[in-house]
Amino acid sequence: MREGAALAALIAIDGPVASGKTAVGLRLARELGYGLVDTGMLYRAVTWLALERGVDMADAEALIALAQEADIRLGQPTSDHAATLSIGGRDVTRELRKPAVDKNVSLVSRIPGVRQAMVGIQRRLAAEGKIIMLGRDIGTVVLPDAPVKVFLDASVEVRARRRHQELAEAGVSVTIEEIRADLEQRDEMDRNRHASPLHPADDAILIDTSELTLEEVVERVRQAAGVRA
Ligand code: C5P
Repeated sequence: MREGAALAALIAIDGPVASGKTAVGLRLARELGYGLVDTGMLYRAVTWLALERGVDMADAEALIALAQEADIRLGQPTSDHAATLSIGGRDVTRELRKPAVDKNVSLVSRIPGVRQAMVGIQRRLAAEGKIIMLGRDIGTVVLPDAPVKVFLDASVEVRARRRHQELAEAGVSVTIEEIRADLEQRDEMDRNRHASPLHPADDAILIDTSELTLEEVVERVRQAAGVRA
């Protein structure tokens, strides 16, 4: 462990779609005994609920009301998910990765009122300490004082290939081209939105994971957090 200093209680990991945040977060959380909060799941939950209720993705007020009223709770990490997620007591973890959610989530997450509701949940979870939080705006907006900030990135080709392999292993059949199109569209919306756009915090450590193995990325984040293997 780090010499002469306490381990940072909050580690923010941001980055675009399929940059490796979840894999790295799961590994480190297990190693350090930290909690893991994957904030993308919260935006996915609101999106899934909106689809379920037939809410128009252009109806910002209705989406904000959903985000404010939904009883969204994050549970414990599992082997392949950063956590389970329930809405009103129903476990919807497996629903959150469906293509319809992928397709619509960036429309929902760009609405400032939705973000405000989700950021409230995220900050409450962070207040518990010893948390690794994954997202797009954790280092810039949600936890600007986090002592450790990492921004992961990789080329579009590598990210599409990784996501394709993950989905294939989960038995989902989609082409690399479809994945690449979804990934590019979401990143473009996430980067260019007005509210909390995706970009690295000034004090974030940037890691391009294109040519690195998971173990190498984890090692770099460990170094950033001042932790020895
Ligand atoms: O990380 P994941 O791909 O599950 O995130 C799904 C979507 O949620 C992102 O494309 C983005 O639109 C939104 N998101 C966000 N801010 C975060 C985390 C996710 O806007 N902190």
